Amino acid sequence: MMKPKINANYVITPGIIPCLQVLGSSDYYPVNRIFCVGRNYAKHSVEMGYDPEREEPFFFQKSTNSILVESEDFIYPEKTIEVHHEVELVVALKAGGKNLSRSEATSNIYGYAVGLDMTRRDLQTELKSMGRPWEISKSFDGSAPCSAIARAEDIGHPTKGEISLTKNGLRCQDGDLQQMIWKVPEIIAYLSEFFTLMPGDLVFTGTPSGVGAVQRGDKLKCAIDGVGTLTIGVV
Ligand code: MN
Repeated sequence: MMKPKINANYVITPGIIPCLQVLGSSDYYPVNRIFCVGRNYAKHSVEMGYDPEREEPFFFQKSTNSILVESEDFIYPEKTIEVHHEVELVVALKAGGKNLSRSEATSNIYGYAVGLDMTRRDLQTELKSMGRPWEISKSFDGSAPCSAIARAEDIGHPTKGEISLTKNGLRCQDGDLQQMIWKVPEIIAYLSEFFTLMPGDLVFTGTPSGVGAVQRGDKLKCAIDGVGTLTIGVV
């Protein structure tokens, strides 16, 4: 990959790097890529109609312009009548590499955030049944709302604690980080066998059960013990 040039004569304006705030600081974390893990909590696998046996993890990506921050509303997207919320622990890398060990994976983590993997479920179901890529059901504008990042040096590396989502005050999703089938270091190590990971890469680590549809006017409140909260309005 050719490195970006300082003062180059670009023929179009280079794209903006999406950023997340760092909790308790005026600093920003630039987002490079967004990886997502599918079916990482057994009860969610069951609700989606799958066997909760531990199978190899699988991944998809969202484009970086999927990022939505807390001060923005989630705009109900086009071409769907069934958009689902999936609350997830997000891992933010500060260093990358290939074929990382689990301990290298952990030391490459900058911090953690609370995220939503918003999904056009009707399109996803249709695409799955046709054996086609999920792209348009998962990677669309604003499909990755994400909180500020809590630094690992402040909060450590959470392996347990409640993860929940309430919609208009009603509790819809809850689980515990302990229920993750693939743990964070395993996910990153595994992913690094397929991709050269880089600083700025985010990993959405899967959702607990209770996913469901959102409507315009809904208020989604997500929380992960020891990590933070994320509140998003749907318009
Ligand atoms: Mn998900």
